Amino acid sequence: MERTVFLNGEYLPESEAKVSIFDRGFLMADAVYEVTSVLDGKLLEYAGHSKRLERSLSELGMGKPKDFDNLLEIHRELVKRNDLQEGGIYLQISRGSADRDFVYPKDAEPTLVLFTQSRPVIEVPAAKTGMKVISVEDQRWGRRDIKTVQLLFPSMAKMMAKAADADDAWLVQDGFVTEGTSNNAYIVKDGKIITRELSNDILHGITRASILRVAKEAQMEVVERKFTVEEAQNADEAFITSASAFAIPVVQMDGETVGAGEPGPVAARLREIYIEESRNNAI
Ligand code: PMP
Repeated sequence: MERTVFLNGEYLPESEAKVSIFDRGFLMADAVYEVTSVLDGKLLEYAGHSKRLERSLSELGMGKPKDFDNLLEIHRELVKRNDLQEGGIYLQISRGSADRDFVYPKDAEPTLVLFTQSRPVIEVPAAKTGMKVISVEDQRWGRRDIKTVQLLFPSMAKMMAKAADADDAWLVQDGFVTEGTSNNAYIVKDGKIITRELSNDILHGITRASILRVAKEAQMEVVERKFTVEEAQNADEAFITSASAFAIPVVQMDGETVGAGEPGPVAARLREIYIEESRNNAI
C-alpha cells in the first residue's frame, strides 16, 4: 500500500513525489526537518516542533515555503489520508532548487516535504529491556542546535554502535557527553536528574523540555550540567529522550552496567508521566 505524501502543495502517492536533482537539500544538506509523533491519531507536542522549525529556518536565513501557515492542517490531513494511529510525521524544508553554488540562491522556492511513518511508539521492547550504548567522539558540526538533515556522522556513530552489539552511541566532546545520535542524554545520581545544559553543542529537544518540566512538577531535582562517560557508568540510572522514543532507559555504557543493569524507576516514571501528559494534550 502506497502512502500519500505531501510535496510542495500537493498530496501525492509516494511513488509520484519527485524532487529536483538540483535541490539544495540533496546537493548540500541545505535543509531542516522535524519529526512529530502521532498517538491515537493525534499529534504530540506540535507547538514545540513548529516553534523550533521556525527557529531553524531563521538561523539559516532560509525562507518559508508557501504552505508554512497550513502546516498543522497538512499534518492532520496526512494522518487522515494514511489512517495513521501510531507513528510519526517527518517534515523537511530545503532552501529549494538552484544550479549548484555555495552562495545561497536569491529566489529559490523552498521545497516542502512531509510523509508519515507507521510504527509502535508505546509498546517498544527497549522501554522494558533498556538500551546499550557506546561512547563515540562527537565529530558533528558546531551548530547542533539547528535541526539540519546533515545526519551522516550520527548515522556513522549508530553503525559503530551496531557493530559493537549496542543500540546507540553517546557522543563525547572534550571528555563530556553531548547527546545521543538522535536523542538527548541523561543520568540519574542520588535522586538528581542530570543532563547537559542547552547550547549550540546539542539539539534543544522538545521532549527534553517537557521531561524536565514534568520531572520538576513531580518534585524531582533537575541539574543541567555536563557529565562524563565515567559518571554515566557510575550513575544509578541513565536514559534518553526524543520525540519518537519518549524516554527509554540506558542499562549499559561501553560494556559497563549502569546502576542495577536494568531499567530504573526514574526513567520508567518519567516515561509514564510523559506519555499520559502527551496523550492528554495531543491535538
Ligand atoms: N538530539 C538529537 C541529535 C536529535 O536528533 C534528536 C531527535 N531529533 C534529539 C536530540 C531529541 O529531540 P526531540 O525531543 O525534539 O525529538
